[in-house]
Amino acid sequence: MIVGIDLGTTHSLIGYYSEEGPKLFRNALGDTLTPSVVSVADDGHMLVGAAAQDRLISHPQASVAAFKRWMGTARETQLGPRVFRPEELSALVLRSLLADAEAALGEKVREAVISVPAYFSDAQRKATRAAGELAGIRVERLINEPTAAALAYGLQERKEGSRFLIFDLGGGTFDVSVLEMFEGVVEVHASAGDNYLGGEDFLDALQTACLGDLKLRGDDFSPVERGLLRRKLELAKRTLSQQLEVRIEGLIGKHDIAWHIDQERFAHLADPLLQRMRMPLERALRDAHLRPEQLDEIVLVGGASRMPLISRLIARMFGKLPLRHVNPDEAIAFGACVAAGLKSRNAKLDEVILTDVCPYTLGIDVSQRGEQGHVQHGIFSPVIQRNSVVPISRESSYYPISERQTKLTLQIYQGENPMVENNIKLGELDIPLNPTLSIQQNEVMVRFTYDINGVLQVEATPKISGFRHEIVLQQNPGMLSDDDIRTRLAALSELKIHPRSKQENIALLARAERLFEEHLSARDVLQQWITHFRQILETQDHRLIQEHRQNFSGALDSLETQL
Ligand code: ADP
Ligand code: MG
Repeated sequence: MIVGIDLGTTHSLIGYYSEEGPKLFRNALGDTLTPSVVSVADDGHMLVGAAAQDRLISHPQASVAAFKRWMGTARETQLGPRVFRPEELSALVLRSLLADAEAALGEKVREAVISVPAYFSDAQRKATRAAGELAGIRVERLINEPTAAALAYGLQERKEGSRFLIFDLGGGTFDVSVLEMFEGVVEVHASAGDNYLGGEDFLDALQTACLGDLKLRGDDFSPVERGLLRRKLELAKRTLSQQLEVRIEGLIGKHDIAWHIDQERFAHLADPLLQRMRMPLERALRDAHLRPEQLDEIVLVGGASRMPLISRLIARMFGKLPLRHVNPDEAIAFGACVAAGLKSRNAKLDEVILTDVCPYTLGIDVSQRGEQGHVQHGIFSPVIQRNSVVPISRESSYYPISERQTKLTLQIYQGENPMVENNIKLGELDIPLNPTLSIQQNEVMVRFTYDINGVLQVEATPKISGFRHEIVLQQNPGMLSDDDIRTRLAALSELKIHPRSKQENIALLARAERLFEEHLSARDVLQQWITHFRQILETQDHRLIQEHRQNFSGALDSLETQL
């Protein structure tokens, strides 16, 4: 069984390809979306999902979210007594998803297809694979998120030459990709985006307007109170995707809030954000050499694309209505399931369906001798251009800059700037030269090979000796070695995780504790309920626990609507 996984910044999902097509698994709370949040409980147990999300408010020091942004870096997060690498945090999310899949399937899951953003670098892709290994599965392949979205819509069946634009607006990221059907293959032709633009920014806009109207400032609230205000505004933002207006009220700290906003004003507030979206949209079209009217379909994915103002922007810019009938926050997971299905049915996935692009330019640092003989260093010489279809292999010749040079140092970079100092260094490789030969005779053939999983191999061969040198890109500080992965896998396996059957109780207690933090006025009653529920849990009487859980959950629902 191969599962398909969308490992998102905000939410993650898991599913598989069933007889009836792609199907998502539900977590212990009955949701297909599991918040990508990790927290460590006071007793040392690791929590993932809704419970961890509630603890972001009640126990901010012990909880972490949005760590997908740090994949491919060595950034560590202290949670309780332990520090975690981003791969480890992602592995905990994966483990939680896998537990949900295994509970439904009744069998162990060993392989997965995981989606990653098209712009993910080598390091970020390797980190995602490492996260899979740390979660105890083999990552059968990584699929670019826009390609997955296309599979979810069955666009691989469209006629030769069809072109699609995938518009993905998530919690904190905006990705645009242009896909094209070419010889029966879905090719990613261009990708662009903004790594710091997403649903959260629309929430910020609402918050600024709300505080402005109420003549309040962020500092008038404690962090917990600000969290509560944001929760209310998030709900309002989502309601505005369905209703023309919404009102929020309630006591936040010592401020009695009553505010109201309609879709029209929200659209006005969001206008600067919509303007920022135009640039990546235009750049993706330019890179793909397309005019807006040449697109056959525009597909909206990502939870934040549910906002009606997004469909309107698309209609205005492209003169047509976007496709959005697959749940936008589930579409990428669906596509990952389709890819997993093709893989497990031995369909020739790589040949038939998927072609990706290398989302950035790869090349080396060169020096050039100018007219007057002065040498300019640090020039970026591209070997593989951005948005080339992968797998790809390209070769270029390089020469030493001066006579009697004993070696050539290849410094490998990734980026879009003509000067290497503004790009990211991936690694370097020394090629010994024969100093008795002329510059021309010391020609070195450099070959870059970039494969479907985003792995870059650099080979350098002096033409005269034919002796091949190959680079190892392991110097990246953001990378875990195989040994690291083995030790960390063992360490992670020792972390305590509650059995799935307890998750509902834990999530309920986490929610009650969050409400306790947020609402001074309700603390007494919440304290009583929490203590009572803990006592019931100690009886270990399943029927009794279930009955109380329903009551407790109902009581929290009504308390939360009153507050
Ligand atoms: P990611 O890809 O980052 O994991 P998602 O695709 O799950 O993100 O999108 C999360 C974002 O979608 C959040 O900012 C959330 O506020 C927003 N969102 C979800 N549902 C709605 C809705 N009905 N209306 C507006 N925004 C929504
Ligand atoms: Mg996403």
